[in-house]
Amino acid sequence: MKRTSKLLRNFFISIIVFIVAIIVFLEIGSKYYKCPISDQPPQNIFVCDSNYYSVNQRKLQTIQRLIELKQQGIEPSREDLDQVINVVKYEDMPGLNGVLCGDGMIFVRDSLSNEGKYFVARHELEHAFIHNGVDTECENDEYCATMSAVKVYPIGFVETVLSSLYLAAKESPTIWCFLFGSWRIFRTYIFPW
Ligand SMILES: [Zn+2]
Repeated sequence: MKRTSKLLRNFFISIIVFIVAIIVFLEIGSKYYKCPISDQPPQNIFVCDSNYYSVNQRKLQTIQRLIELKQQGIEPSREDLDQVINVVKYEDMPGLNGVLCGDGMIFVRDSLSNEGKYFVARHELEHAFIHNGVDTECENDEYCATMSAVKVYPIGFVETVLSSLYLAAKESPTIWCFLFGSWRIFRTYIFPW
């Protein structure tokens, strides 16, 4: 019995040391590794350019209503999100899952799963809430936006992470760009500091 618990303890300690070592490796790598520029031409974010995607006043009014409801503690429903989401081609916002443009419009990429689209839209909507003073306690926008969206759409979060990793693997010129680049993005969303 004593032997088993000692073995078990050593096993858990090894796992923790292993995980810490991986995190330290990723932290150092993502700080110092410079990814060689890929040979793809630079791409533009078309969705926030009103010459390509015109501003929809009805959607902006709905977002305004959702901000007011949230101020009263009412969480937006899926039907609410359906009214404000703009689903667009990934090529029109390369490198992004979603975006809240300066004019207040919310876009999500079409190659996300259904739950992923709700997760990303809720994340972007939280940015609108924060900008409008709904959550004054928040110290890190990205972290707060992700946590608010994860609570409502946990499956969408997992599907979005997997889909982002798949895209990053396809687009990265080297394995290290993929590894450290993905970590750099991932850590902004899950660590509050
Ligand atoms: Zn964000």
